[in-house]
Amino acid sequence: MELVCLDLEGVLVPEIWINFAKKTGIKALEATTRDIPDYDVLMTQRLNILREHNLGLPDIQEVIADMGPLPGAKEFVEWVRTHFQLIILSDTFYEFAHPLMQQLGWPTIFCHKLEVDDKGMITNYKLRQPDQKREAVKALHQLNFRVIAAGDSYNDTTMLGEADHGFLFDAPANVIAEFPQFPAIHGYDALKEAIRAVSQRNIPA
Ligand SMILES: [Mg+2]
Repeated sequence: MELVCLDLEGVLVPEIWINFAKKTGIKALEATTRDIPDYDVLMTQRLNILREHNLGLPDIQEVIADMGPLPGAKEFVEWVRTHFQLIILSDTFYEFAHPLMQQLGWPTIFCHKLEVDDKGMITNYKLRQPDQKREAVKALHQLNFRVIAAGDSYNDTTMLGEADHGFLFDAPANVIAEFPQFPAIHGYDALKEAIRAVSQRNIPA
């Protein structure tokens, strides 16, 4: 019994904050954990900027919907779901993921949650669990599933290490260099082939 776990941003959809900053032209929102390593400080800053620009959740969701999934992502998700059950493990928030999940045909996703007031302004955020991607794979192992996982960045590496097979997908060169234990795959066709090769199932090419 096998499951596939995939990261969301950088694997199936664009980086949400970076693209949101580009689409809205709000430069200050381009900061990432590489600029501000403390996630709490970074998120507090992001929420303050959204409030300053009077951007409520519906405005944000409209911009995110317009980003759309990466080219080929929808077909890839359909392929995975034809042969496996798929769980997307992401460090984004349900409210941000929602318009993109619609465009991907509503796959299962485990992520975090925002708090929104009655005017639609985001007031706070709630991380569901620390190191949640790894914890999810651990829990799936306890349920007797083998797990094949793929992600593109630092926040995926504990998930990839915990999985029976972990792949870096379209990862930046520095991540590939730091984690040579995970095969680096580029493009959905190659990822399909890699999943097929390690699967215990007989999946036609
Ligand atoms: Mg990612």
